[in-house]
Amino acid sequence: MIIGVPKEIKNNENRVALTPAGAMELTKRGHEVYVQTTAGLGSGFEDHEYTAAGAQLLPSIEAVYEKAEMIMKVKEPIEQEYNLIKKDQLLFTYFHFASYEPLTKAMIERGATCLAYETVENPNGSLPLLVPMSEVAGRMAIQEGAKFLEKPMGGSGVLLGGVPGVEPGRVLILGGGVVGTQAAKMAAGLGAQVTIMDINLDRLRYLADVMPANVNTVYSNEMNIRRHIKQANLIVGGVLIAGAKAPHLITRDMLKDMIPGTVLVDVAVDQGGCIETCKPTTHEDPIFIIDNVVHYCVANMPGAVPYTSTIALTNATLPYAIQLANKGWKQACKDNEPLKKGLNVIDGKVVYKGVADAFGLEF
Ligand code: NAD
Repeated sequence: MIIGVPKEIKNNENRVALTPAGAMELTKRGHEVYVQTTAGLGSGFEDHEYTAAGAQLLPSIEAVYEKAEMIMKVKEPIEQEYNLIKKDQLLFTYFHFASYEPLTKAMIERGATCLAYETVENPNGSLPLLVPMSEVAGRMAIQEGAKFLEKPMGGSGVLLGGVPGVEPGRVLILGGGVVGTQAAKMAAGLGAQVTIMDINLDRLRYLADVMPANVNTVYSNEMNIRRHIKQANLIVGGVLIAGAKAPHLITRDMLKDMIPGTVLVDVAVDQGGCIETCKPTTHEDPIFIIDNVVHYCVANMPGAVPYTSTIALTNATLPYAIQLANKGWKQACKDNEPLKKGLNVIDGKVVYKGVADAFGLEF
């Protein structure tokens, strides 16, 4: 198959859909890989690393779309790319169709076949191509939280690990899923006193088993949350209710009960946030302060660490890309049920119920 990897052109997107290692896995199986020049640079991969891996370089985004049977990307195509997409071209990338109607309409009009990373789904309901980004964001939540706890950054001036003779900081984590687990591991590793709250008792049992002694689990309810926020120095929001807006577990009135300089990192901000006062921010301007409480609400946290994020994402996407390239999308989806769930648009027709429902389209 002929595979094209364009450079991402969405604002501040430094990731790339394929690493040189991924390119090598495809070329050694007999596929042709065309990478736009400098596509990998933002993630730390130079053009010559791709050519050494058997890929060929193309000078423009137009040339990549013109050549490829399958386009591999990170973010959804943006308006400038719509007209480059050819009928029957396979696009394998994040789309998040339900949140943006013009994109859905454009893909229908172009007659493309769209396999969305975010809806590839395992039999147990887990989303294997979303997990790596939650892992990155969960770990980053502590790194960013620790940074903004520093006094010059607006925080209370607590060092999360403490030092001998001084007690460590306290970290409260709402949601013990992928984000919460990775955040807890990082905070525990720094030596902080960590509490994870969740409503899933099986999950809390598991976490209580595997986490070190400085991590406690507490059932998530309003009374427990109100009690714990009074002592926390850093609070991480990692709650998700699949397919719904996140519930506001921390409300505006609770801020006055917090220690001045407490830092809130609401990772769930991309689903509306689990902290009422959180509004999406950017890496250029990541925080704002309300009632002496620092709010960090960056909606694309992994974008700040493109080297790690690119490798983590491509580790997860490559096995599917290889199947698509080896067999073509029809056979690959027939053989692989989780991959089939990624199909959102086929030949210009929406085939994913959630997307059709979102825009009242025929399904
Ligand atoms: P997940 O499904 O693995 O975990 C969510 C957890 O929340 C589950 O364990 C669930 O039981 C728990 N939960 C539900 N209701 C709760 C409640 N009332 N109290 C406490 N816990 C509750 O999800 P995840 O992969 O960890 O993702 C969490 C959020 O982070 C999602 O909204 C995701 O989109 C977001 N995210 C954001 C970024 C970013 O850059 N900001 C990056 C990756 C993921």
